[in-house]
Amino acid sequence: MSRRLRSAVSVANGGTTRAVIYVRISQDRTGAHLGVDRQREDCEALAERNGWDVVEVYVDNDVSAFSGKLRKDYRRMLADLELGTATIVIAWHTDRLHRSPTELEEYIDLSERRGVSTHTCQAGSIDLSSPSGRMTARILGAVARQESEHKGHRVAAARRQKAKAGQWSGGLRPFGWGVPTGETKKKTLKGTDEEIDVPVLDMTKLVPEEGAALAAGTDMILAAGSVKGWARWLAEKGLLSTTGRPITHNAARDLLLRPRNAGIAIYQGEEIGRGLWEPAVPEPKFRAVVAILTDPNRVTTTGSEVKWLGSLIYKCGRPGCKTTVRNTKVGGSGAPSYRCQDNHGGGRNAAVLDAYIQDLLVARLSKPDAVDLLGPAPDGVNVGKLQVESETIRRRLTDLAAMFGSGQISMAQFTEGSDVARAQLDGVTAQLARAAVKDPLVGLVGVKDVQAAWEACELGRQRKVLQALLEVTLRPPRQGRMPDGGYFDYDAVETRWKR
Ligand SMILES: [Zn+2]
Repeated sequence: MSRRLRSAVSVANGGTTRAVIYVRISQDRTGAHLGVDRQREDCEALAERNGWDVVEVYVDNDVSAFSGKLRKDYRRMLADLELGTATIVIAWHTDRLHRSPTELEEYIDLSERRGVSTHTCQAGSIDLSSPSGRMTARILGAVARQESEHKGHRVAAARRQKAKAGQWSGGLRPFGWGVPTGETKKKTLKGTDEEIDVPVLDMTKLVPEEGAALAAGTDMILAAGSVKGWARWLAEKGLLSTTGRPITHNAARDLLLRPRNAGIAIYQGEEIGRGLWEPAVPEPKFRAVVAILTDPNRVTTTGSEVKWLGSLIYKCGRPGCKTTVRNTKVGGSGAPSYRCQDNHGGGRNAAVLDAYIQDLLVARLSKPDAVDLLGPAPDGVNVGKLQVESETIRRRLTDLAAMFGSGQISMAQFTEGSDVARAQLDGVTAQLARAAVKDPLVGLVGVKDVQAAWEACELGRQRKVLQALLEVTLRPPRQGRMPDGGYFDYDAVETRWKR
């Protein structure tokens, strides 16, 4: 026990020494040493070492560990603790104490109200009075639950293996995976005796067009594209969800955010390591997409769709006027035009202005030295090395949980170890994301036909390029016919290259 925990415990005990012991027999672990007598002896030894008086021993014979059956003595213990019989609970291991998140929350609640502290022979003390202690208890509860859901480690391992192999239990297949093996299996239709043949799918194999779509969507986001653009792309390709419906904007976003895209297995909401299926995208790209799509500062155009290149990007030229120029229609019949909220300089024909700016951008991107416009490469970032590092940390997390599960390390060691590993993983993940986020200019410079490449870009990406390259300020235009014979004052459009 760490010094910090020890002091927290003694405070929580408030100086009292009345303890109760809780033991439970179950078949979820093997070995005679886990019999009631041994559990009880260990608990009594713990009480003696700490100088606590054991006032009651509660015993439940709970053959099925995950039955959800009422444990009579456990309920009796809670009732007694409620009355203040004792403020210390001793158990052999946390998994003897509570078996479900509901039970754990009830226990946490009672512990807080009655100032009960919990000590286990195998995992040390649980400081339920601190948020981090409660969190740890919840995580351990999830781990214990996962293990006790099945009889014996072999079954638990098999289940975990199944999660790693695709987490597919026969429901709807996840978009991207499931290639028919040619075999079929019998399935009984719900609510009937009727049996039908369903194809057996290989969940480790990518469905080619769906895998390609996931890779394309990932690349689009990394090249400053939008989820909306990808959803449109999917619709154009005629790709549907695995329920056979068009893929909505939200569904498309969810698809891009699945760790399984990068071959990362998830179990009960936690990443548990490498899955056994073929990844659709490399992990750095996946991390980058998550970083981009979950960035709270990300500006999305959902709702009011932007239709013009410079809306909210071109600036008004009036000193001190910070108003962004918007596209508004003059009167009822005029052409769409850019104007600021205070209407400085009046409106500028939007189609003409956008065409002009577009020509400037394409001309600049077509110059032989345009490659130099690309942002600095993420120097010194060795993606391969980072990848190995993230893999190692993830394996360590899995090992720690296993070591705790088998009683080799204490709760404090487990918490401390996994906190450190998680912090390291966050750092590595952030670096991977930075290394993989592409410049919006990638794919536009160094290509043969910049004009064609520009036209192929969706508006959202064109706007990103504009923002990255050019500052456009609208000065008050001259009135009447211009020297070139037209009515648009190009001289009043001030441009400044940012790169
Ligand atoms: Zn203005």
